Amino acid sequence: MRRFLHAIGLLLALALPLAAQEVPAEPGAAKISVSQSAIAAEGRDRGKPRPLDITVATSRAVPFRTYFLADPPRLVVDFRDLDFRGAKPETMPGADQVPGLRWGNFREGWSRLVVELAGPYAMKNALQSAENGASALHLRIEPVKDKDFVVRPDALAALWDLPQSTVPPAKPRAATEASTRPLRIAIDPGHGGIDPGAQVGAISEAAVMLGFTRELTEVLQASGFEVIPTRIDDSFVPLERRMTKARAAGADLFLSFHADALPAGQAAGATIYIWNSDANDRAADELASRHDRDDILSGVDLTGTDDEVAQVLMDLARTENHPRSESFAKMLAAELSQQGFDMHRRPVRGAAFSVLKSPDIPSVLIELGFLTDASDRANLFDPDWRGRMSQSIARAIGIWSKDEAKRAELLRK
Ligand SMILES: [Zn+2]
Repeated sequence: MRRFLHAIGLLLALALPLAAQEVPAEPGAAKISVSQSAIAAEGRDRGKPRPLDITVATSRAVPFRTYFLADPPRLVVDFRDLDFRGAKPETMPGADQVPGLRWGNFREGWSRLVVELAGPYAMKNALQSAENGASALHLRIEPVKDKDFVVRPDALAALWDLPQSTVPPAKPRAATEASTRPLRIAIDPGHGGIDPGAQVGAISEAAVMLGFTRELTEVLQASGFEVIPTRIDDSFVPLERRMTKARAAGADLFLSFHADALPAGQAAGATIYIWNSDANDRAADELASRHDRDDILSGVDLTGTDDEVAQVLMDLARTENHPRSESFAKMLAAELSQQGFDMHRRPVRGAAFSVLKSPDIPSVLIELGFLTDASDRANLFDPDWRGRMSQSIARAIGIWSKDEAKRAELLRK
């Protein structure tokens, strides 16, 4: 697996665009003290994993649990009622001693710290100390051989991460239903919680997308569409669960919104992605695998859980569904370029984004722009641009749904 850090080192003095992104701290939540926390490696650096002492200082003692995950090796510490907001992992002393460090909200009342490791480790000590009201969690982990690497078994992980298996299969919207209920659009703001997505200075993709989709939701509802959000606050939602949420709600269309980072000059302008596992497109591949990696690092790897038969059936269903995703993508691209939006020179592209894998819901991932591109960034921070973008998306959905109705009509004849 490729190893790269998600955060990019650009510093920009831009204010956050939308006040709505600040979710108030839960009353009574403990706070992390980054400057009092640290990661220290023991001994000399000989390019091999070394014993690590990890200290997480908090304003008071909180319940926690630790475990390891593999591929890549990671230490995960889940905390009850610990507020990480405003604290940056890269400012923690010793953060550079490990290949990666991230934290954030994971689910209601729980937050998560993930320490990426250079190899397999075992827990030697986990102690929480309290002094003068403040508290610190001291973890000592030491390198072990592969065979001694104990990772959390799937059964436990399932309690946290697996999509509900009882979710009823999506009912395709019957033609007769067309006039009786509004079109349901699943709106998926990319990233969230422990996974901030692309970061440029104080700006995170997760926050910008949440702000944008809140505005978009209002526009879509005003246009008569029903909206099913996959997340409504700064919380972590695994990719698979985003799809199962949409399916459980009987969504007719799934739209995932992103504004990622790519090295300067590699990408600018709005780009619309549809599922294609064979796309031979380096930049798109990199983006797609980065998103899967974010999901894996933040939560638990669910890839490979489908058995082969299910996989084949999914592929078949996807083949039927694919032209519907593609037609929406093309209609949206046409609408956006007609409205004068800056578009990538190849605006509709294929990529293996896991979130687009739904076999039965037309799904499209929209990179509204790239946070690494100055003019894209300016657009995302311009309320007028965002408003016009929302209106264009609503119009494209309207055009597409009429086309779908015609198609359904033809199928019935
Ligand atoms: Zn993204």
